[in-house]
Amino acid sequence: MLDIAVLNELNERFEHASAEEILQWAWETFAPDVATSSSFQTQSVPLLHIISRVCPQMPIIFIDTGFHFPETLAFRDKLQAQFKLNVLTVRPTVTQSELLAQYGEALYRRDPDLCCYINKVQPMQWITARMKVLVAGVRRDQTANRQAMSVLHQPLKGPLQIHPMLNWTKADVQAYRQAHNLPAHPLYARGYVSVGCAPCTRPVFLGEDERAGRWADSDKKECGLHLDWSEEEKKHEQ
Ligand code: SF4
Repeated sequence: MLDIAVLNELNERFEHASAEEILQWAWETFAPDVATSSSFQTQSVPLLHIISRVCPQMPIIFIDTGFHFPETLAFRDKLQAQFKLNVLTVRPTVTQSELLAQYGEALYRRDPDLCCYINKVQPMQWITARMKVLVAGVRRDQTANRQAMSVLHQPLKGPLQIHPMLNWTKADVQAYRQAHNLPAHPLYARGYVSVGCAPCTRPVFLGEDERAGRWADSDKKECGLHLDWSEEEKKHEQ
């Protein structure tokens, strides 16, 4: 765990650094105990492309909840082949039939926080248990919660979190994709600007923010992967 003074110093240093610099430092400092998580959507593409150039051996963790659109799985495979990524697909320890038997039909509708905890947070905790660093492509312009994030964050539980894309904007993502002629998720053209699990994602309409199609029928904004895991544990394991 990094000392708070060191953490503050690094955050000052990296606040205006490029994603390339941050990733290079993370890999050189922590390899092989560093991985990134990706949901393989359009906005994930620049980070994955930068990793392929700067630290191609870095494992890319994809949590296969079992609820993804088939197009997301196909896009993961396409990017893995195109960028030669070191993708690590991880599944929940609870199968869908066990989930059904224990919690009944459509847990994602009745208690999406618990569903995300079982299908996303727990498998991520398991796979990163011995890792020192987890990189994520979150951006400040996405949600109010993300606005308050720092480039490096040491949570009470889990690996050090590094956010190399934190200061990128939606326009930066677009410009990078265009400059490097990079593909979009197959559902992007149909309005799926931000893509998560199929039952919890709808297309975004004109004028809405890019994450408006996620858990659109509830006030849920985050799946929990980018929240404090110890808080998530307390909430769901009482
Ligand atoms: S996004 Fe929806 S289906 Fe996926 S884990 Fe969360 S609640 Fe369940």
